Amino acid sequence: MRETCRQCGTELAGVYCHSCGQKRFSDADRRLAHLLGQFFEALTSLDSRFWRSVRALLTQPGWLSVEHLSGRRQTFMSPIALFLLVNLLFFLAPPMTDFDLPFIDQVGGELAAMAHPNAAHLSAEAKARIASNSGQAHSPWTTPWVERRIAALQAHDPAFTVRDYADRYEASSTNISKLLIILHVPLLAAAMAMVLYRQRRYYAEHFVVSLHLMAFMMVLMIAVGLALKLEITTRYVQTSIGLGMPILACIYLSRAFWRIFALRWWEAVFVALLWMIGLLLINTVPYRAIQFVLANWLM
Ligand SMILES: [Zn+2]
Repeated sequence: MRETCRQCGTELAGVYCHSCGQKRFSDADRRLAHLLGQFFEALTSLDSRFWRSVRALLTQPGWLSVEHLSGRRQTFMSPIALFLLVNLLFFLAPPMTDFDLPFIDQVGGELAAMAHPNAAHLSAEAKARIASNSGQAHSPWTTPWVERRIAALQAHDPAFTVRDYADRYEASSTNISKLLIILHVPLLAAAMAMVLYRQRRYYAEHFVVSLHLMAFMMVLMIAVGLALKLEITTRYVQTSIGLGMPILACIYLSRAFWRIFALRWWEAVFVALLWMIGLLLINTVPYRAIQFVLANWLM
């Protein structure tokens, strides 16, 4: 008897339909055991692919990108799924200060002095010193906006202080800063497309490489955050982490660029250094501005 696909009606010539890909439907597929089996498979395959991908991410710099770019896409998680799952773990890790500055460092002038936790007990010189700090690149535009927001709140509640506002901001900014890590990816990909234009790669391919590299940076930040959280850390350990992290990142990035783009080793080191500078610039200018505005807006 000829059997047709339940999904699209094509005549079947094997276990899978050659037209739509659905598996041949059998009576067992209607049973609870099938449903439970699917549930178990979804959990364990996610689990094993996730850990396999994380292992490759940590031990084989650039390998995940090479596999993805050359079309072998079954072994590992998709770059975006891996990025989002690492991002989820990053949410549970202690916050990193570079990605989430305190309110007082994000605003400039008088407002920073008023937001100081000890504002009432600061000497006039200390206040003047804080107020002379201009804040971040975005502060000239965002500080007047924040001042208007505080004034609106004070119109309702005269007892509301700038410090109250800063506390509220800081309560919401940590999670938002972690959620917005992905903002680095499109900008880094654009920078890479320019630096490596001779590679004649699609923008999306640079995007994939950036997803993998940023996922690694998040794993690194999770590890550093946990290490610093341990009480055993002395000043010596903290200094070595502070120096070791960028060096480790540079070695990893060089190896990844060498592998993905078949560069000479000194070219790979050069691109890795450029990438780190690009990350720093993107982090301190556009990322910080967007993170600050959104955290104020959503608090
Ligand atoms: Zn079909």
